[in-house]
Amino acid sequence: MHTDNVLMAAMYNGTQTQVNPPIDTVQSKLTACADCDLLLADLPVPEGSESVCPRCGHGLREGRPDSALFSALLSSVGLLLLIPAMGMPLLSLASTGLRHDVSITQAVLALGNDGYWEVATLVAVCTLVAPFLNLWLVFAVGVVLQMGGAPPWLPALLRLNHHVREWAMPEVFLLAVLVSVVKLKDMAQLLPGVGLYCFICLMLCTLLIETLIDQHELWQTYEKNRAQEK
Ligand SMILES: [Zn+2]
Repeated sequence: MHTDNVLMAAMYNGTQTQVNPPIDTVQSKLTACADCDLLLADLPVPEGSESVCPRCGHGLREGRPDSALFSALLSSVGLLLLIPAMGMPLLSLASTGLRHDVSITQAVLALGNDGYWEVATLVAVCTLVAPFLNLWLVFAVGVVLQMGGAPPWLPALLRLNHHVREWAMPEVFLLAVLVSVVKLKDMAQLLPGVGLYCFICLMLCTLLIETLIDQHELWQTYEKNRAQEK
């Protein structure tokens, strides 16, 4: 390790301060800049600030609110919204006196019944399975960390969540719904259902989880809890 390169990551946007503490005080907690690989001290970032790399200016971390608490709260709301979003009518199509309600689950099954099993599987994974797994994992991690626990299986959940959330794409499905509405508006009367409102709220919830929760802080809380258990 080139200890000459160890600097303190305390160059906050706006304040532009940089401090180089003695190396032995920071050696135990180091992080590397994702852009230029400079080794830096891993310091807590105040809420509303952002630490940047003193060499290349790459953003390292943003100070965010209590990530474990927000994980538990936002994922609880998301899980509650998931059931009506998946099961209740997304859209109602009315044409020539007939009215037909469609939910996401019915849309996936209809795709499969029409022979588009590959598309149906992809839609099911990205809009049903991955969002559910993502919310459940965020909930489990948030609750355990908030209660001060650090079980040995928690890192596996954090790592799994890292992969699962790449597949959770409810916003793509919503885009497809909007395209369908535009295409079908002259052929049938389209009415938004309860499922659509729940789905939009679920998408916002997922978006808040992505923007407000700092994965790095979750790992730090895990380490802190584990140190307290010893
Ligand atoms: Zn850098």
